[in-house]
Amino acid sequence: MTSDMSLEDRYTVPGRFWHRLDDGRVQCDVCPRACRLHEGQRGLCFVRGRAADQVVLTSYGRSSGFCVDPIEKKPLHHFLPGSAVLSFGTAGCNLACRFCQNWDISKSREIDRLADAAGPEDIAEAAVRLGCRSVAMTYNDPVIFLEYAVDVAHACRARGIRAVAVTAGYATDETRRGLFAHVDAVNVDLKAFTEDFYRRVCAGHLQPVLDTLVHLRHETHLWVEITTLLIPGHNDSDAEIDAECAWIADSLGPDVPLHFTAFHPDHKMRDVPPTPPETLTRARRIALGHGLRFVYTGNVHDAEGGRTFCPGCGEAVVERDRYVIGRYRITDDGRCASCGTAVPGRYDGPVGRWGARRLPVAIAGVTRS
Ligand code: SF4
Repeated sequence: MTSDMSLEDRYTVPGRFWHRLDDGRVQCDVCPRACRLHEGQRGLCFVRGRAADQVVLTSYGRSSGFCVDPIEKKPLHHFLPGSAVLSFGTAGCNLACRFCQNWDISKSREIDRLADAAGPEDIAEAAVRLGCRSVAMTYNDPVIFLEYAVDVAHACRARGIRAVAVTAGYATDETRRGLFAHVDAVNVDLKAFTEDFYRRVCAGHLQPVLDTLVHLRHETHLWVEITTLLIPGHNDSDAEIDAECAWIADSLGPDVPLHFTAFHPDHKMRDVPPTPPETLTRARRIALGHGLRFVYTGNVHDAEGGRTFCPGCGEAVVERDRYVIGRYRITDDGRCASCGTAVPGRYDGPVGRWGARRLPVAIAGVTRS
């Protein structure tokens, strides 16, 4: 079979986590899709495939673009608040969400047109140069480009820059351990709380995502926050939100921040209306009722839903207007400035003042670690 993939290509590297099947195919074990590949075939994510009789990654060092963002945009509210993060992604995705808000990247079949080439060292050095405290792998899921993601994380850590993964958590146990052990913070997109939604809307399954969350929370020391995009009529019923929050409280504990964010019509769901702000407020109330301590609303202006409250004295220790931090009452080592109670998260010095700016940047050069 003629293939467009080759290890001679400078962006193609041998892949991890796969095995041979008795019928001559090879199976990719990076995510629960378990794509079974003949020579020359690509997996559903498009960036992994079989070449030279092995599974390869074809997007190592190729990016869909770089941008300096506020860390609150990932969203991470308890991780180096106010700091700048250098964000990037590649192409492809291992889910097929009908509402995808990054579908031009995640469903791209044109990786040759990916604009920016950059190796791990280039990215880490750019983060230092740009005054970023972390690098986020965010526009599509680092699960599918884990070899690149791990090398970026290593290069960053070597320079004192933290690594952040924004992920749907749709991964096998091997990938969870092989990827997330190398990063410092993760935001997991928990897309809904029914198997029916995952199957019908995302062409995936719920349980592997829950397994990822339990692994991250109980078997690692990295910082974890969760985001659920509420889509009218699809995952926003009281019963479903109630079930999700009960599971988080029981399985992960009350200190994992939860962000309810607003949907806007996109991709194959242009017939669904935007999420009313009242839906986010209702969801937040349900979550607080389950004892979750840090529940936020996102993609809207909502003073109450943007506040962090001290778990000790109840004072509003951080006030936010979307990505902009206003009043800030947390000490440099992460304690309430009034009562001294530790606020869960990762704090390291004074609050950053990056604000809401979004700064696209170009990063030249390709170097492999
Ligand atoms: S990572 Fe890609 S190739 Fe591997 S199983 Fe998942 S979708 Fe298939």
